Amino acid sequence: MDMKRSGSRHIYRFGQAQAEGDGSMGEELGGKGASLAEMTRLGLPVPAGFTISTRACRFYLEHRTMPPSLEEELESALGWLELEQAQRLGGEKDPLLLSVRSGASISMPGMMDTILNIGINDGNIDGLAAKHQNITFALDSYRRLLQMFGSVVLQIPKHAFDHASEGASLGGEEASLRQRVASFQLLIEHISGKPFPMDPRAQLRQAVVAVFESWNNERARHYRRIHKTPENAGTAVTVQAMVFGNYGVNSGTGVGFTRNPSTGEKAMFAEFLANAQGEDIVAGIRTPMPIAELERTMPRVYKKLRTVTSRLEAHYRDVQDFEFTVQNGELFLLQTRAAKRSPLAKLRSAVEMAEEGLISRTEALLRVTPSDLDEVLSLQLDLSNAELQAIAKGLPASPGSAVGRVALTADRAVELAGKDKQSPIILVRQETNADDIHGMVAAVGFLTAHGGATSHAAVVGRGMGKCCITGAGEIVTDEVAGEVRIGVHILKEGDWLSLDGSTGRVFLGQLKLRPSESFDNPFLTKLLSWARERSVTALWANADTPQDAARASHARAMGIGLCRTEHMFFAKDRLAHIRSMILASTPGAREDALVSLLPQQQADFEELFRAMPGLPVTIRLIDPPLHEFLPTEVAAGEELAQARLQGADAEHIYRLEELLLRVQQLSESNPMMGLRGCRLGIVHPEIIVMQVRAILRAALRVKAEGTAVLPEIMVPLVACVEEVRFLRKLIEATAADLFSQEGRQIAYRVGVMIEVPRAAACADEIASEVDFMSFGTNDLTQLTFGFSRDDAHKYLGTYLELGILKHDPFVTIDRDGVGSLIRMAVRKAREANPEIKIGICGEHGGDQASIAFFEELGVDYVSCSPARLPMAQLSAAHTSIARGPVKTQQEKAPHRMQLVEGAGLSHGLPSQSPSIFRSSSPSAGSTSLA
Ligand code: PEP
Ligand code: MG
Repeated sequence: MDMKRSGSRHIYRFGQAQAEGDGSMGEELGGKGASLAEMTRLGLPVPAGFTISTRACRFYLEHRTMPPSLEEELESALGWLELEQAQRLGGEKDPLLLSVRSGASISMPGMMDTILNIGINDGNIDGLAAKHQNITFALDSYRRLLQMFGSVVLQIPKHAFDHASEGASLGGEEASLRQRVASFQLLIEHISGKPFPMDPRAQLRQAVVAVFESWNNERARHYRRIHKTPENAGTAVTVQAMVFGNYGVNSGTGVGFTRNPSTGEKAMFAEFLANAQGEDIVAGIRTPMPIAELERTMPRVYKKLRTVTSRLEAHYRDVQDFEFTVQNGELFLLQTRAAKRSPLAKLRSAVEMAEEGLISRTEALLRVTPSDLDEVLSLQLDLSNAELQAIAKGLPASPGSAVGRVALTADRAVELAGKDKQSPIILVRQETNADDIHGMVAAVGFLTAHGGATSHAAVVGRGMGKCCITGAGEIVTDEVAGEVRIGVHILKEGDWLSLDGSTGRVFLGQLKLRPSESFDNPFLTKLLSWARERSVTALWANADTPQDAARASHARAMGIGLCRTEHMFFAKDRLAHIRSMILASTPGAREDALVSLLPQQQADFEELFRAMPGLPVTIRLIDPPLHEFLPTEVAAGEELAQARLQGADAEHIYRLEELLLRVQQLSESNPMMGLRGCRLGIVHPEIIVMQVRAILRAALRVKAEGTAVLPEIMVPLVACVEEVRFLRKLIEATAADLFSQEGRQIAYRVGVMIEVPRAAACADEIASEVDFMSFGTNDLTQLTFGFSRDDAHKYLGTYLELGILKHDPFVTIDRDGVGSLIRMAVRKAREANPEIKIGICGEHGGDQASIAFFEELGVDYVSCSPARLPMAQLSAAHTSIARGPVKTQQEKAPHRMQLVEGAGLSHGLPSQSPSIFRSSSPSAGSTSLA
């Protein structure tokens, strides 16, 4: 064999442990061709053949004719294959039969076409039967050829063949097959106007052209659109000596995975269909047997399959999805590729492969995407009601859960999803095939009556990360009537159904969803511990309640970056106190109301500190406009009118009048730019005094319990340095007063939120006055764009559609505008105060692209909601890996880590960094600033 590669050749042969191509040539040979070449080189049992390159396909699609040299190359390759197989194409006695398969460089499962058994004709069918001493096998192979050739090459609809088969069941198997062969030949001649070509070379040429053409069929184009795959890559065509799974009981065909594609468990997961050929399994028409059946009936073949596929996995260092055929007890591999697997399986297999030493930890981290983790941690069906009964059970083909309305066809799924965007759709089919892909995109989950865990629906479900249940035999769909019978239940299109993809159970109605329990998944825990080791930026959490803080601690947050204290006021039992504080007409009366709020806040802060021992807890002073705590003017007016109507007592009426008046007084035309943030604390310092006392009393108490506490007090929405100076003085005076009363003290930090463009511009001045600054990117985006964060969704959709914006700036940080303000502010702040600690605490902290940007800026930490921490930790690790060897957060800032440890050891002022961790002298100042 000529083993040299040449720039102008179109055909690459493989056979007898030698191949002209190899696994690295996916672009030229397609995934299938490259893997067959590689497997051949590894000495694995692969039927000999050759691959026509994607370049030839591109030439054909451009010029509508084959490349000039292809004919000669094809003849030469055929001659070689005939010698290799000791058979002749078109031979009368023992003809060489060929399979013709598509194979693009990017896997497009089931999207393009395959034709098997090329080479059979009327002249050699008896010779074929005699050679194999099996007439039904020969006839079955011929009728399959006619059917595939007819539908793929001649575009005859599949149902025409079903129709032509009717009535062919009389008179025994052989007679029935002969009738079908005859009627298929008639059908082909009738519809295409030409008889089925008896010349095997003509069959082959037409089949190759048809596979090239299938690159542009409707479903392949749709697939490329949704998977953003290049339009002009073309497909390769692999021509291979046939091996027969339909040869009798000692034969069959199977597909499998080296590890479980749903769970990732390290156990071969495969299915086998005895006496079957080609696409019978993937098409989901017959439900295959678990591989244990092969182990029982052909133990030697099973053992070989295990050995061979383990070799494949070790060679490719990844989970493999393989296809095989057993012909009369002999095993052949037909394909291997990296397996599409569920996010859960990606996670588990990546971690286990790293632990087995097959891949590095870095590779394991890169094999799982942050959105995979989102899927793993997505909501699950709430099955807590013990009365719940599943109405059907199928195979758990792709995990997760789906609650949605039934649609029975792909078109209906698209239509229903378009009509009501709030109602998710579940596509319910007997089985799915490549023509259903648009409906599968529109649906949130799939349920099929037929097919195994490797059927079309299962593979697509896992690929799309959608829940899928297959082989639920109790299901009978009637698309014409728009109904599906599931056991004794009849559902109409539009009725609600709930799927549990982890167990394969189907429930009637719209079940509730609850948070996933996968936070405790040991593989997730391990992967995230590797992620934290690799990331340069520390991940903190935003936590408003003790419950949030416990979750943050569980997810190994390195600190709390934002506690929105006002969220603690929204609880019903506290609203009354805060209202009386707002309604108070004198500072004294307001202070009285605050006195009752203080113990409640203090108790909450204590819980936060207990949840984060030895880690910084950043508590933001009150931020939103006061009217958020009061009813709307309309509601207050209505309440007053009602009271008057019902003749309420004078005192009650007076209180309601007072409430309405204050609501009117506090109403602002532009509350987001109104009396909020640090302005509120400057106008009503008694609120700040109460909050600072609550924070520091809580810190002192928890410290006294023996827990290291690192309180950080954060002032929101500052615009100028004078505000910072004023409030810092107030905070320090309050602290000093408290410490003097208590006779003990605790270290704390004071910092600000940068949320106003002016503050970013003056970050140097501000940085000199504080220990830390944290970018509130929600408000900073709002005020930089001038887009209201509460209302912008009304027009952002149009902006995104028109391409005016590429991303929603409230989700992904706007690098050019908001981002450049942050970049400038970070630089100025560090120049003015090299010791300053800088973080991010807006919603962008949970967005992958934004995390990458913040890491580039060199911020010390990014804080996001506890639910998004796993995803953020992985994103940060990915960014650090992509940026190459830079120092991790431990290496980068040893003094900061020491600070944490020092505080943990001494429960007091860390001796090494007094400039960062300040304490007021017990005698300095008092609280009487109101
Ligand atoms: C911000 O503005 O980014 C922020 C974190 O504060 P809030 O969302 O509470 O306004
Ligand atoms: Mg804000």
